[in-house]
Amino acid sequence: MAHPRKPVTAGPLTLELQLRYAYTPGGLRPYFEALQQGQALASRCPQCQRIWFPPRLLCSYDRSTTEWVRLSGRGRIISVTCGTSRLPLAQTSSHHCFALLALDGADNASFARVIGDERVLQKGARVRLSAAAAATPHPAQSACFVVDDK
Ligand SMILES: [Zn+2]
Repeated sequence: MAHPRKPVTAGPLTLELQLRYAYTPGGLRPYFEALQQGQALASRCPQCQRIWFPPRLLCSYDRSTTEWVRLSGRGRIISVTCGTSRLPLAQTSSHHCFALLALDGADNASFARVIGDERVLQKGARVRLSAAAAATPHPAQSACFVVDDK
């Protein structure tokens, strides 16, 4: 006997997921360690010379194994958005600004948190990498940029 089907549009569907996994930074350990010290470690492809930040272990263009290269950590904002959000692995929401950045020396744009006066955090503003003020749940969250007033 067939079960009567409840139309999927009849109400909200509840789905609860819980995942737990452990991993190591692996080959990106130098990048995360540099971030926690406020330094920008990128990768350069020996084939096409593209520089990636955040780094890729393999070039996204031609899959060549890359090598480490240090950048100044300075760049400019391409676009920015601010609002209330919860960072990954955080327990509470708070006000944050995120930006798409063009880092000096990098060939790709990167996404990062920016901290500072929102009247100044605008398209074209110069920023520099700064170590996160507080411990973060994941080392990638150490990628915080502040207004570069030098
Ligand atoms: Zn390449």
